[in-house]
Amino acid sequence: MELTIDGQRIQVEPGTTILQAARSVGIDIPTLCQDDRLEPFAACRLCLVEVEGGRGPVASCAAEVADGMVVHTETDDIVEQRRVLLDLLLSDHKPDCLTCDCSGDCRLQDLAYRYGVDMSTYTGEKRDYEVRDDTPFIVFDPSKCILCGRCVGICQEVQQCNVLDFSQRGFPAFISTSYGRSMVETPCEMCGNCVSACPTGALQDKQSRRTARAWDTEKVETVCPYCGCGCNLTLHVADGKVVRVTSPVGEGPGGGNLCVKGRYGFEFISHEDRLTRPLVRVDGELKPASWDEALELIVSKLYEVREQHGPDAIAGFASARCTNEEDYVFQKFMRGVIGTNNVDHCARLCHASSVTGLSQSFGSAAMTNSFADLETADAFLIIGSNTSEAHPIGAIHVKKALRNGAKLIVADPREIDMARRADLHLQLRPGTNVALLNGLARAIIAEGMADDDFIAERTEGFEEMKQAVEPYTPEMTEEITGVPADRIVEAARILGTATSAAILYSMGITQHSHGTEHVLAISNLAMLTGNVGRPGTGVNPLRGQNNVQGACDMGALPNVYSGYAAAAQEVNRVRMEEAWGVGLPSTPGLTVTETFDAIHEGKVRALIVMGENVMLSDPDQTHVEEALKKLDFLVVQDIFPTETAEFADVVLPAACFAEKAGTFTNTERRVQLLHKAVEAPGEAREDWITFMELAHRMGHADASWTWTDSADIMEEIARVTPQYGGVSHARLDEEGGLAWPCPDESHPGTPILHTERFARGKGKFFGVEYKMPAELPDEEYPLTLTTGRMLEQYHTGTMTRRVEGINELVPTGFVEVHPADAERLGVVDGAKVKVETRRGCIEVPAWVTERPREGVVFIPFHFWEGPANRLTNPERDPQAKIPEFKVCACRVSAGDN
Ligand code: SF4
Ligand code: SF4
Ligand code: SF4
Repeated sequence: MELTIDGQRIQVEPGTTILQAARSVGIDIPTLCQDDRLEPFAACRLCLVEVEGGRGPVASCAAEVADGMVVHTETDDIVEQRRVLLDLLLSDHKPDCLTCDCSGDCRLQDLAYRYGVDMSTYTGEKRDYEVRDDTPFIVFDPSKCILCGRCVGICQEVQQCNVLDFSQRGFPAFISTSYGRSMVETPCEMCGNCVSACPTGALQDKQSRRTARAWDTEKVETVCPYCGCGCNLTLHVADGKVVRVTSPVGEGPGGGNLCVKGRYGFEFISHEDRLTRPLVRVDGELKPASWDEALELIVSKLYEVREQHGPDAIAGFASARCTNEEDYVFQKFMRGVIGTNNVDHCARLCHASSVTGLSQSFGSAAMTNSFADLETADAFLIIGSNTSEAHPIGAIHVKKALRNGAKLIVADPREIDMARRADLHLQLRPGTNVALLNGLARAIIAEGMADDDFIAERTEGFEEMKQAVEPYTPEMTEEITGVPADRIVEAARILGTATSAAILYSMGITQHSHGTEHVLAISNLAMLTGNVGRPGTGVNPLRGQNNVQGACDMGALPNVYSGYAAAAQEVNRVRMEEAWGVGLPSTPGLTVTETFDAIHEGKVRALIVMGENVMLSDPDQTHVEEALKKLDFLVVQDIFPTETAEFADVVLPAACFAEKAGTFTNTERRVQLLHKAVEAPGEAREDWITFMELAHRMGHADASWTWTDSADIMEEIARVTPQYGGVSHARLDEEGGLAWPCPDESHPGTPILHTERFARGKGKFFGVEYKMPAELPDEEYPLTLTTGRMLEQYHTGTMTRRVEGINELVPTGFVEVHPADAERLGVVDGAKVKVETRRGCIEVPAWVTERPREGVVFIPFHFWEGPANRLTNPERDPQAKIPEFKVCACRVSAGDN
């Protein structure tokens, strides 16, 4: 369509609003209630424009363009109307611009300046309410509120928590929670997205109050260091310190929305506990040392172990928290300098089954579609993923689709938040996913809902799968899973009749002793219904940590080089030897879990841990602790003195995400650029510098082992990693994130995988049998323990537990116990209980709740004082070697209160 705005001829798509059309050519129509994240509200009337031939001014935020339309945005009448509107808004507004923390960052102030409204001509009553300062992160001053409704819109439309609404009418109207309760007493997720929407100082971030004015802060774009969603952050820096975090609207996976961790979990950056100097163990105590002393000690010990026991007596854990560049250098160091493939990282503990399973069925081990694309789905199966807590921004995209009418099935042993939003909650017994997935597949086939054309053209192995699922009648599936047969059929009908259905899963699927088979069964279901390779479909493993996808892509795994090139294949080894100019080992490497066994067996004698806290993250903590004690030499590189660092011989201080440049690859395969915002404390360094230096000290000082900065490392990554061939820091800076595969500089990236063909050619069905978890409840341990994450805390708590407000929200761990179990066991809500398994015992407060199904208890694993992984079962999936964190037998009894 073509239209003219202020004399400029513009071509836009039908459905575009006048406001969008104007902005597309840089014409700034003022708004207060409009937010790109929301449906138009058209309440503030500031965006009124004149349309030639119209009956009067129209709200440009809500009016769509028409072909041939002629629009005027700043006529004398329109400008006068805006002045009057601003005058009215200011008439009852608290006049404290001089001291308001939002001065310089206030849309109302900007517009008053633009239209020359310096003081209201009305002298009526002022809004005069008490400031509400009753949450850890958000302060509300209703006297500055202009009732634009953006906070209400964000909370209801986007976050869908329905915490805020208008209360009363006319002059006394104000924004409130129900019954005026504190936000912390409501379902508020403390995301702060309402604050980000507020165009005045009414809603403010508490942490940045009285710290620095907007014009005193430098703004640096980077990427969230927490979960795999990879939201874009703007760090506001004053006096060398991050004082506030926002997110650019319309950019990145969150489009300007964040969760509580991303927006408010930044205090750890400047926390006094940060490691600032290398520490070396002397007479049993860790004492400060120079970098030179620490690195020399490491070099001499590594040489000693290698000479005495061979290179495979040394192992290294890379990190899903570090950048791609750091992980790439780390695995290159382990392989090329130490001479071992013993390199792995915590993907082993979260999505190793996705790597083994999806590689077999599709040929590529990653999320097939993007978050934004999920909004086009008309049905979802979320299985084994507490999406709104573990991947809150991913959940926002699902919620948007639900608002547009999509159906949601949630399969989870607990009544998680998304289950409450679902059309169907299949509350299965932990570990029975394969039976449920087979039951769904069988019902889809039985009711003639399979996509025969897709199966015939794009897949192989269908008959084998069909035979394997045949025994899983709804009744038999009910018997195994505990999900009523009619619900299984109903769920199959939703999936079987949807035009586009997306499957989302996470660690409830992967962390099992048959995790690979769980993933294969998911792939079967997606192919059976033809839901791969199109918008709004796909198999979408939600990766837990900020760069776990990237760490895998970079070859921080014992069996592959970067780009998943199998290390066992000579052709790949020779290619990498030529690229790196060194001989490379041909013996297979050890996984994280195998490494601990090998330490116990005396086969591994030295361990280098970069940015992982294995003491809390790995199963069977006692086994891990004994292994760490048994090592001849342990190096830990981290930002804090972690529980693992307590056992180290050398501890090296590292720079955190805000203190370095580099890239993270999020769960959508989107490679995104980090910019350095602040200096690292003391002598802390970027991890890649440490390993480059160690390589130099160990005889590899040539050009192949020398980089000037992380952009230089990315150039090497692009040369040796086909999927990253077109990725460079310069390009990411200019264009934003790129989803791999991105084979060359002109390639736009690949938001959807397997569109024409699967990465392996044809998609492969596998006949998968349900197998029971390794440990089931019995007389001695009659309950099932499952573990997982919470919204507010993160992983082993190293960062979030150093954020005061987050600790205020969730101070410590707990065990969820179903009321029926609690009554039988005499467990009282809030009282301490003992939770015991065959591996250990912890004491935590009980939370008596109907969230878990009867017979199941849940413990989050973030807390050192209630370490869930003292209890978990290290039994492993034979292919993925991932431990069975999600199911083990336990007993609960009243503790010492
Ligand atoms: S913080 Fe988030 S959940 Fe809470 S009121 Fe604001 S938008 Fe709603
Ligand atoms: S609190 Fe802010 S966003 Fe909410 S209605 Fe008032 S001015 Fe608008
Ligand atoms: S959803 Fe994940 S990436 Fe986004 S802000 Fe929250 S923790 Fe950070």
